Amino acid sequence: MLNPEDLRRLARALEMTEEEELSCDECFEQLDRFVETELAGLDAAAAMPLVEDHLEKCSDCREEYEALLRALRAERGRKTPVSLIWSRLRRIFGAD
Ligand SMILES: [Zn+2]
Repeated sequence: MLNPEDLRRLARALEMTEEEELSCDECFEQLDRFVETELAGLDAAAAMPLVEDHLEKCSDCREEYEALLRALRAERGRKTPVSLIWSRLRRIFGAD
């Protein structure tokens, strides 16, 4: 049987998962897919609302997103693999 204290704890845990906010790391991991979706002419915000949500709130990730978007647009037609551009950007931003 759950006692009232356990129930409160459970309720709090549920509230926390309901918020569904990405950390910067989680956002970063999904950013390439987000940008690719967008460049494919699809609605990235609808496909990945949590990433969109994080980008709205986090200027650091927003900058990375815009840099990646610019880089991919510039490379368009040159058939540079996204993973290569992405690894270059990661170096610029000092990740890994
Ligand atoms: Zn962030």
